[in-house]
Amino acid sequence: MPDDLVVQINPTRVAMIGTDAKPARCIALAGEVGSCVSCTIYEQRSSPCREFDAAWVNGQPNPSCDAARAAHGLPPLEANEPLWPLEEDNAVA
Ligand code: SF4
Repeated sequence: MPDDLVVQINPTRVAMIGTDAKPARCIALAGEVGSCVSCTIYEQRSSPCREFDAAWVNGQPNPSCDAARAAHGLPPLEANEPLWPLEEDNAVA
């Protein structure tokens, strides 16, 4: 985890800068929330990030995912809803 992306929250733990804001916006997040975003440190992301599944990724709801989306004015994901735009949605005529 790059040191310049975290803030010390206690003697033994750090948090990503921006994750304590309301609404949270991790410093490592690139893009526009609700449109297209990506993690700029995906291979280095922390264990909480690795353990967090978007709702329905494993067939289960995730109230924390729903709350995070709601904080940005987004509706909850629905079961079987694709997380990424379908390729044909991006097609250019
Ligand atoms: S997955 Fe990446 S962008 Fe998302 S909270 Fe973790 S470090 Fe930040």
